[in-house]
Amino acid sequence: MIHITQLNKVFRTELIETQALHNINLSVAEGEFVALTGPSGSGKSTLLNILGTLESYDSGDYQLDGQSVTGMTDSALSALRNEKIGFIFQSFNLIKDFSIYDNIELPLRYRGFSAAERKQRVEQALERVGLAGRRSYLPGQLSGGQQQRVAIARALAGSPRILLADEPTGNLDSLMARQVMELLEQLNREGCTILMVTHDPEQARRAGRHVQIVDGMLSDATVYQPLVAQAVNQ
Ligand code: ADP
Ligand code: MG
Repeated sequence: MIHITQLNKVFRTELIETQALHNINLSVAEGEFVALTGPSGSGKSTLLNILGTLESYDSGDYQLDGQSVTGMTDSALSALRNEKIGFIFQSFNLIKDFSIYDNIELPLRYRGFSAAERKQRVEQALERVGLAGRRSYLPGQLSGGQQQRVAIARALAGSPRILLADEPTGNLDSLMARQVMELLEQLNREGCTILMVTHDPEQARRAGRHVQIVDGMLSDATVYQPLVAQAVNQ
């Protein structure tokens, strides 16, 4: 689903250059649930944003679901993003004056779905996250956990191939965090590929795979294990 090789990202301002990502290699197969952890400032959000085609990179290659992202025009990128990727953020990013229903429907309007198709998708997504009864509420009338479930519904309504979640439970208490995590696990069991940034070691353990990023460099326990075993055998 995701295949990146030798990816580098440098942020340049007038005064400083920050190499946020160093020669990142990462492959994620369809149906995987990958947890990404690392200290603050280590490059987690930068990597997720690049995977989501929201951020550019300086060198390296990125293949998403068999398509090469490198060198794509902006309009091709946004089409690819809309079709394949769902985002969930720590701060939910819901529009506060829009009802739950309208929040979920808005991206579908941008994508040009018919009114009937939008209705069907929004209602299905609301059912999926257990909030069908709250469709006319405003975000501020829901708990944090419910708001995050609305954000998940908004992502799901677009039928993404992959869900990218940047600390989706970072603003939630532990009970609500668990509910959101259980929803993500359920979606993953139904075949959705998920890449999630988290600070919670328990969540990282529960994910199918755990990769770590430190100072812009990625290490993957499932990649390094065989190397360790080889070294021990010799
Ligand atoms: P994390 O999500 O792991 O906390 P980030 O990916 O946000 O880390 O940031 C990685 C590094 O890149 C940090 O040193 C950060 O200051 C820098 N950085 C991130 N975004 C920008 C930006 N837009 N401009 C300049 N530097 C940035
Ligand atoms: Mg971050």
